[in-house]
Amino acid sequence: MTETIFQTDSVRQSRNVERLVVGQATTDGAGVNLIRVLAQPLQQRLDPFLMLDAFGSDDPDDYIAGFPDHPHRGFETLTYMIAGRMLHRDSAGHEGLIETGGVQWMTAGSGLVHSEIPQQAEGRMEGFQLWLNLPARDKMIRPWYRNFTASELPRFETEAGVAVTVIAGLTHGVTGAVTRETTAPLFLDLHLPAGARFEQALPIEQNAFIYVYRGEVAVAGQSVPSQRMAILADAANADGVVIEARGEPAGEQAGEARVLLIAGHPLREPIAQHGPFVMNTMQEIQQAVRDYSAGRLA
Ligand code: FE
Repeated sequence: MTETIFQTDSVRQSRNVERLVVGQATTDGAGVNLIRVLAQPLQQRLDPFLMLDAFGSDDPDDYIAGFPDHPHRGFETLTYMIAGRMLHRDSAGHEGLIETGGVQWMTAGSGLVHSEIPQQAEGRMEGFQLWLNLPARDKMIRPWYRNFTASELPRFETEAGVAVTVIAGLTHGVTGAVTRETTAPLFLDLHLPAGARFEQALPIEQNAFIYVYRGEVAVAGQSVPSQRMAILADAANADGVVIEARGEPAGEQAGEARVLLIAGHPLREPIAQHGPFVMNTMQEIQQAVRDYSAGRLA
């Protein structure tokens, strides 16, 4: 049973849409086709977030190869599975099956080698991977890993009928599966019935964006269609965001909108990235490459 919670995050003035972003089709891992929504040119603007990939296909050829052994250092990866099954294994000894509705949160920290392999030969595989940066002082912390099944994730419904899954952060008095002090990430999956409205207070200094993966929504009067990221403008007079699902409840366009709402506190530190390593300086990147080649991440 889902608990109903009354809106406590009321917003006087919503942030506007600063720009809409169309993701770029790309291939990663051993040949997984995906859409890179948040890519390197947006890392400064959306600090502390480094990457958002969306994957979704009914064709096994798009996903079956998975992501065999590869290293990471210096940040956190969050995988949210909308549909499908994927097995994670890493050199720090963690193993976990991530299934429909589940989340895998991995802090790469000082580094590890891991694999993410689909556990299905057919059917739909859909989900997201978000990269969250670590502050300079935490980049070399011990790797950490948690797997949350769909039923372990905090979930509630607003009186407007919006179903909210709280992966990270705090919303309407509900604390997410994971919280982080420095970056204070908010990561929500919102299912809005047609015409429904959702309000989320956002601290003025946080960078924020939404990604619409079903239906269409409006933010401060501007339409955000499906498969679009909307970067939410920072404005001194805006105290949050108001998201409204387009479509009439019983009309032609009936159907819910599904939206990821992501926000976090910027680190304002230099970002040096080389593939799966994200540090602050090129020297630290070179060290990561040397450590990986010498087998010190495994
Ligand atoms: Fe990975």
